[in-house]
Amino acid sequence: MERDFDIVIIGAGIAGVGLAAALGPGPKVAILEQEPRHGYHSTGRSAAIYIRNYGNAVIRALNAASAPLFERGDPALFPHPLLTPRGVLNVADEEGLAAHAAMLEGAHGMEILTREQALAMVPALRPEKLAAAAFERDAQDIDVSALHEGWLRQARANGAVLMAGTPMLSAARIDGIWRIETGSGTLTARVLVDAAGAWADDVAKRAGVAPLGLQPMRRSMAVIPAPENYDITGWPMISDSAEGWYAKADAGKLYVSPAEEVPVDPHDAYVDDMVLAEGLWRFEQAVDVPVTRVERSWAGLRTFAPDRTPVLGFAEDGFFWLAGQGGYGIQTSPAMSALAATLIKGEAPPDGLEALVPALSPRRFSAA
Ligand SMILES: Cc1cc2nc3c(=O)[nH]c(=O)nc-3n(C[C@H](O)[C@H](O)[C@H](O)COP(=O)(O)OP(=O)(O)OC[C@H]3O[C@@H](n4cnc5c(N)ncnc54)[C@H](O)[C@@H]3O)c2cc1C
Repeated sequence: MERDFDIVIIGAGIAGVGLAAALGPGPKVAILEQEPRHGYHSTGRSAAIYIRNYGNAVIRALNAASAPLFERGDPALFPHPLLTPRGVLNVADEEGLAAHAAMLEGAHGMEILTREQALAMVPALRPEKLAAAAFERDAQDIDVSALHEGWLRQARANGAVLMAGTPMLSAARIDGIWRIETGSGTLTARVLVDAAGAWADDVAKRAGVAPLGLQPMRRSMAVIPAPENYDITGWPMISDSAEGWYAKADAGKLYVSPAEEVPVDPHDAYVDDMVLAEGLWRFEQAVDVPVTRVERSWAGLRTFAPDRTPVLGFAEDGFFWLAGQGGYGIQTSPAMSALAATLIKGEAPPDGLEALVPALSPRRFSAA
């Protein structure tokens, strides 16, 4: 088995695999994944939505840069379009008006709706709770599995190897080369990429690199039966602008999230029943859909840097961060992967992304 690489990437979520695909056929690349299969953690647990106006200004710029890359696709990798139209109806009650206004600030392509227009779109909304509504027509569903698998095929075609069930235990840089101790022996690499999601700070510490204060936050999701008195076919995603809940209809079911952000240590996330129940209650206050049964539920981790902007760039010689993607890691992954690949290879960043480099750099924390 090959043990000497140019680049070793820790983590086979969307970040690690997207980067391996974007690096192209030149460098010798290995992706290490501690779990027996890729996509087990955050990447396999998302709401799978692309919302152009979600996140801070840097994230919105990454979202915008990612859309054409999603849309361009590559028929050899992705047999079907990766995005399908969905739309997001943002709603607010009286208490949520300030958050609604903040969400609209700097937003692109947002249509302000009257109460009647919003009710025509989702008749189950409770009119007495509907103080404001805005529709983002361009929000789309992302086929996350097709994206992840397509990029993995591309990475393998480039010559990259995925080592699943192989945790990175520690790493030391000696004479410009990383010696990486794994669950199955030692590897070497010129560049070590930290794409370890919720474990990104842990991986940095294991490599003797200063952690950045990344914080995993739990968020959960419940699947409930569709209401009998409403036809949910064609409903947009409905999102409380104050992030008290969101809901998405799919395959005859409603997916409802309490939209919680609970700080936790990195772990195999599971639902807190009380938090889920409270979130479902908030949903029921705004939407006339009684939750009689939860058919399935799960939780995942959204990991944020202290300023809620992702971290992408070299911290020090040979150690590259690709972490802190928060709740936007799928929708920003085309731009993040393309930008990371160019910086690692010492090439010019893709058009329009160069301006984002300082805001994404891990060095912004030490400069402060
Ligand atoms: C409920 C929920 C809804 C979301 N909805 C959306 C959405 O609609 N749109 C969107 O864009 N984003 C969404 N997100 C966020 C998105 O899922 C994440 O930002 C993204 O998946 C992060 O990808 P990642 O590759 O960084 O992390 P992960 O997918 O977690 O991958 C990191 C990998 O690193 C591995 N690893 C860690 N430590 C080691 C080690 N020492 N050795 C080897 N491997 C290691 C882990 O096992 C893991 O597989 C959502 C998240 C949640 C939880």
